[in-house]
Amino acid sequence: MKLKYTYLPFILIFIICMIVISLVNNFLMSSQEISVEINNSDNEQKDWFIQKEENNERPTFPTYVDQYIDKYKIFVVGGKDNEIYLTFNCGYEHNNYTMDILDILKEEDVKAAFFVTGGYLRSNTEIIKRMVEEGHIVANHGNTHADLSKLEIQEIKKEIVDFENSYSEVTGLSFDKKYFRPASGIYTEQVLEIAYDLGYTSVFWSLSYMDWEIDNQPGRDAAYSTIMKYYHDGSIFMLHTVSKSNVEALKDVIVELKSNGYIFKTLDEFPNND
Ligand SMILES: [Zn+2]
Repeated sequence: MKLKYTYLPFILIFIICMIVISLVNNFLMSSQEISVEINNSDNEQKDWFIQKEENNERPTFPTYVDQYIDKYKIFVVGGKDNEIYLTFNCGYEHNNYTMDILDILKEEDVKAAFFVTGGYLRSNTEIIKRMVEEGHIVANHGNTHADLSKLEIQEIKKEIVDFENSYSEVTGLSFDKKYFRPASGIYTEQVLEIAYDLGYTSVFWSLSYMDWEIDNQPGRDAAYSTIMKYYHDGSIFMLHTVSKSNVEALKDVIVELKSNGYIFKTLDEFPNND
């Protein structure tokens, strides 16, 4: 009897060791999943900025954007052919306008990309499923729409990766369309690098207007004429689905652009997208 008990401490130590090894292993595995090596990219806050041109000329961008296109393959404006990329941002649902937009896209046989937040994903599962079923791209607009310029590296990664996990829970599919758009167009070079290292293309835009204030809508005519004034070859439109004016103008915009010889393409067809 006495002999048996002398082994007890060794058995306990063995068990504790096994538990510690397995915990450390799990920790290493989980941190490896979202580990990216950050080089010397800086974290100065940048706001997406476009110098608009009238008469359907392509807009200009700050010169540093060229480096980001080279280094992080970001999308800014498409090719110089008659091509348009339609993208929407969805942070929350308002009057089910997204369903109206999906109806118009279906009628016109146009595919778009919807940059949605994690919160939007989780509270609008039927809309998300419809987007996927109808061949649209559901893309990553961050889990909580946080200002990424204020976050630490690990928090930025979490903002991106948590979205992917929610997407899989909601749709039962793995998240494979790795397009990312920073909340409010606020970013840093570090954000671009992290997204790139996580396998993402950061997608900005070359046409937008103030369409996101639900109580300050410009109306159908203003929405239509603004888009018609500024669209250009290779436009990436960035529109909000909460906008009544967008819902009212979208069909006419699509019909008019098609009759002008424009083709609506998807982000997967973006020039040099490999
Ligand atoms: Zn947004």
